[in-house]
Amino acid sequence: MEKEIKIYDTTLRDGIQGAGINPSVEEAIKIAKTLDNFGIDYIEGGWPGTNPNADEFFKKMLKINLKHAVLTSFGSTRKAGIDASEDKNLQALINSQTPVVTIFGKSWLEHVKMMKGNTPEENLKMISESIEFLKSHNREVIYDAEHFFDGYKDNPKYAIKTLIKATEAGADYLTLCDTNGGTLPFELEKNLEDIFYSLDKYFDVNEKTRKYKLGIHAHDDSGLATANSLTAINYGCKMVQGTINGFGERIGNADLITLMANFKLKINFNFYAEKNMKNLTKFSKQINKLTSQPDNPKQPFVGKDALAHKGGVHVSAVLKKPSLYEHFNPNAVGNKRHILGSNQAGKSNIVSLAEEFKLDLSDKNISNILEEIKKKEKEGYAYDKAPDSLRLLFLKESGGYKELFKLDSCETVTTINKLGEEEAKSILQLKGGTLMESWGNGPVNALNKALLKALIEQGLKNLDIKLTDYNIEIINREKGSAAKTRVFITTKDTKTDKSWKTTGVSTDIISASFEALKEASEYKLLGLDK
Ligand SMILES: [Zn+2]
Repeated sequence: MEKEIKIYDTTLRDGIQGAGINPSVEEAIKIAKTLDNFGIDYIEGGWPGTNPNADEFFKKMLKINLKHAVLTSFGSTRKAGIDASEDKNLQALINSQTPVVTIFGKSWLEHVKMMKGNTPEENLKMISESIEFLKSHNREVIYDAEHFFDGYKDNPKYAIKTLIKATEAGADYLTLCDTNGGTLPFELEKNLEDIFYSLDKYFDVNEKTRKYKLGIHAHDDSGLATANSLTAINYGCKMVQGTINGFGERIGNADLITLMANFKLKINFNFYAEKNMKNLTKFSKQINKLTSQPDNPKQPFVGKDALAHKGGVHVSAVLKKPSLYEHFNPNAVGNKRHILGSNQAGKSNIVSLAEEFKLDLSDKNISNILEEIKKKEKEGYAYDKAPDSLRLLFLKESGGYKELFKLDSCETVTTINKLGEEEAKSILQLKGGTLMESWGNGPVNALNKALLKALIEQGLKNLDIKLTDYNIEIINREKGSAAKTRVFITTKDTKTDKSWKTTGVSTDIISASFEALKEASEYKLLGLDK
């Protein structure tokens, strides 16, 4: 079987249907350039005529030369009862001047019936005439058969007829869409067997002489978008549609990151971007950054946890023979193995982490560190979520740590005025320093400001750091208000954009926060961010 496939990205159309993803036109252009740089084949830019952003995007993209990708505009078949040339939506698609146009049409009779003025026969004409119209304007045409699998279950003959009409009208690809995301992989495989059989029979072709090309567009509502897309490609579909990092409405679309890793590493299919697979992790993060989305640590292949090993026995084995505990080579997608330090850690975790921290440890150091981690985690610390506090612990136990400042006293209070507005004040003094006072919108904010002020007074220069995330967990809830609090903070260097995570534990939330803030400053002052 020919193993050449096309990767079709719809991050800028289906992806932005996802909650919280609203790129501006300039950001959308950056996203398109990033997709092109990675080697994506098709970039669907939006639905012209439906929102001004899409129109502006296509206009600006005319001046931008893409290296490999082709730009696609998206729309629907013509309205019922009019001529294709009079349809505003089709005109907008032509006006967008993209070399490729994708239109969706109805495959499910239940949907056809719901549309005013539409009939099963008229729907077939809408598909044919819209595609013919676009082909007469020399466009490559991708026909998205919307709700295809649901339509096929309801009336297979009619659903197949829509594909035949689209093919006869000249569509270059027929994309089968699992729009509701409810199809199961083994149903899909059975359906594909029938669809290929019916189309081959109708056109009197076989696997080798086929002219029509099928594609797959799967939504992840049943958590099966990857499985369905992989099944479809493995069964002979030639195009996969999806979004980067699985962005999209409801649960999202098929994640092209996961899919490309599977195509390349598992079933060895060929696609243009395969040569860039070593940058897959970086690429996934770039798109998150451009859409202001957090990286998902649990994302297959590229997530931070994809190669995180915790248990001691497990770690010693993975270091000897990775393939026993990892289903893929981290280098192949540019991800890294990650050994966690925790109370479940063994010697191998410590040795491996010491290498990462560039520390030369004696056997005594190793057993001291192991003991200290166990003791601290019993007190409530969780170092697997604060690797940079763990690094400080390593330094403390191996003699590489120097305490640069000490707290003398601290008082932090929050007041609520008559209007219900909160204000927090922190008065803090370091050993050998004067009293520093700072205000903030909350106690931790005030405390952080007072600490940074005091550090400058101690001659420890302006640190250019910023608290970017603050998280608390209650450790022993059953103790009610006497429970212990575990604080995690993320600090960022505002000049280099590097960030680090530290932690603190105490029955008092301010003390726990101070500990995490102190370690965050120490991390920077000791140059560990370099
Ligand atoms: Zn979709």
